[in-house]
Amino acid sequence: MFTLKEAYNLALEKTYDSIPKRSYSFNSSVSNLTKTIQSAEFKRAVQNKFGDFDKFQYETKLVIAQQKNIVAAFTSTPIAFANAWNMQVEELVASDVMSLAAAGGHFQFNQGIKGSKLYRTGFQHGLVKNQGGGLIIGFRHKTSGSYDEDNLSEMGVFTYATPEDASGMMEYRFHENFSELLGIPRLIILSQWFRYKTVLEDNNQWLYMTGIAKVVGTQDHPAKGIQLQLINREEAFRLLLAHEQLMTNNVNEKVRPPLPEHLRLGWSYEKIKANKKKRAALIKYAQERHHKCVGKLCGHVPFEKLEPSKIHIGHRISQHWNSQNSGVVDVHHPYNLYLSCDKCNISLQSKYPTELDNAINTVGTIGDWLMQGDLL
Ligand SMILES: [Zn+2]
Repeated sequence: MFTLKEAYNLALEKTYDSIPKRSYSFNSSVSNLTKTIQSAEFKRAVQNKFGDFDKFQYETKLVIAQQKNIVAAFTSTPIAFANAWNMQVEELVASDVMSLAAAGGHFQFNQGIKGSKLYRTGFQHGLVKNQGGGLIIGFRHKTSGSYDEDNLSEMGVFTYATPEDASGMMEYRFHENFSELLGIPRLIILSQWFRYKTVLEDNNQWLYMTGIAKVVGTQDHPAKGIQLQLINREEAFRLLLAHEQLMTNNVNEKVRPPLPEHLRLGWSYEKIKANKKKRAALIKYAQERHHKCVGKLCGHVPFEKLEPSKIHIGHRISQHWNSQNSGVVDVHHPYNLYLSCDKCNISLQSKYPTELDNAINTVGTIGDWLMQGDLL
C-alpha cells in the first residue's frame, strides 16, 4: 500500500527504467520510413508530461471528470462492444443494432463537427487527449474492417498499438506502472463508429459506440502496445470515483484500492463467520506475523497466545452504529473488519469510530491482508 506521492514517484522511476540505453529505430506505419528515437528524447518526454506532480494531478482530475460523465451516459457492455468490433464491418443496419443493443450496446449520433471531441471523424484512428494538457482520455477507432495493429481477444483484452512518438509511448508505460502500484487501474474510453444510413439525417450518417477499458499489465519497452480490458459501467464508475478521491485526498495518505468483487463478497463478515477455513486462514496469518490485539483491555495480547475461539472479528464502524444508520456504509466490507481478542471485541461493540482506528490502520484490516496477496 503506497501513498499517492510514493506511487507517483515509483511509477516515474519505473517509466525511466523502461527507456532503452541506445536509440530505438522502427519502421513508421504512417510514413513507411525508418524512424529513430534517442534515449534522451524518451527521457525528455517523461519529464515534460509527468515531471511535475501538481500539473499531473490537476490534469488527471480533468480527465477523470470527463470520463465520469461519458461513462455514466454512454458505456456499452463489454460483450456488445467486443461483438461489434469483431464483426469487422464498416456499416451497420438496424437489425445489427437491435442485436447489439439487446446485449447492452449503446449507440449515438454525433451531429457533425459540433459533436463530442471523442468521436470526431477527422481522424480514422487515434488518441483523444485532454485540451491543453496531453493526457489520454480515450482511443477512437473507425471500424474499417482492417485490424492490423489493434486486436481484441475473446476475453475482451485489447492490445492497442503504440503511438509513434516518444511522448505517447512513454505515457503508456507511465499509466501501466502507476496503475499497478496504486492497485487502481487507469481507464481509457474506447470508441468505434460505423456507417449507418439514416435517410433523412444528412449530418448523421455515422453511428458511434462507446466502451470503457482498464489498463492491465505492464510492458518493459517504450514501443510495446498497451493492454486494456473491457469492463462494465459499474466497475468503471467505481474506479473513477476511487481515482477522484485519490486525486483530492492528502497525497501522503495510504491508498486503499477498491477490493475486487469476489473478495468483497467472499470475505464479508457473514462469509468469514460461516466458513471455518477462511476464519482459520485469517488467524494463522495474524499469528505467523506476530500481530497483537489492537485493544488496550488485554494489554495488546499477541494472537499466537490465544486459542482461536478467543479471537474475534471486529467492525471498525460498529454493527451497533450501523443498525441505527442503516444503508450508510457497507459495514461487513473486509476493509471494515479486523481481528481482536474477545475482551476488547466486547468493549468496543457499540463505539464509533473506535479510538483504535489508527492502530487498526497500521496492523491492517482483513481487506488489507487480502490485497497484500499472501493470505490466499
Ligand atoms: Zn484485546
